[in-house]
Amino acid sequence: MKIGLFFGSFNPIHIGHLIIANVMAKNTDLDKVWFIVSPHNPLKSSKSLIHEFDRYEMVRLAIHDNLDLEVSDIEFQLPRPSYTVDTLTYIQEKYPEHEFALIIGEDNLVQFPRWKNHDKILEYFKLYVYPRPRCSESELKSHPSVKMYEAPMMDVSATYIRNTIKDGNSVRYLIPTEVEEYIHRNKLYS
Ligand code: ATP
Repeated sequence: MKIGLFFGSFNPIHIGHLIIANVMAKNTDLDKVWFIVSPHNPLKSSKSLIHEFDRYEMVRLAIHDNLDLEVSDIEFQLPRPSYTVDTLTYIQEKYPEHEFALIIGEDNLVQFPRWKNHDKILEYFKLYVYPRPRCSESELKSHPSVKMYEAPMMDVSATYIRNTIKDGNSVRYLIPTEVEEYIHRNKLYS
């Protein structure tokens, strides 16, 4: 199978992530998309990061009725901080029967040359890139390992969702109902 890997903190997962994962799974040659929940992104502060088990559980709840989407906790067992190149290598060795591609936004493509061993990633894996608002052009757009796809742009972030919850305001329609209920039940982000 051809599987797209969508990495993130998912703190929490929101409609922006879900739309992209579904577009990639249904409207490209990918058979499935796996959400890889990262315990800690080395480029981000961990202050507002809730426990990885809660973030994993929210992804699971969000995608339970979509057979083309799966969630993986594979990075929880890997040395931290986890770099994408190391996780990709590990996953490809663990599942040699599958072909893996990396799903990233165009904003991340601009940053991509800063990633650890980015040349190795481009050598061994395809990048499936979706558009993001207000990002600059990347020279990598024409790289043979980079494929650009159309997808709706949702200008929403997990930071916005966390702040809105903290302020006691509504996040209805921005996150799935099951995720909203999980957050309230466990008093997260408040
Ligand atoms: P935060 O606001 O906490 O930084 P985030 O909303 O950017 O979080 P991440 O978990 O870091 O969420 O996102 C995982 C991946 O999804 C990242 O590659 C990120 O660039 C991308 N992403 C984030 N928000 C959106 C969105 N609205 N549409 C498409 N992709 C997104």
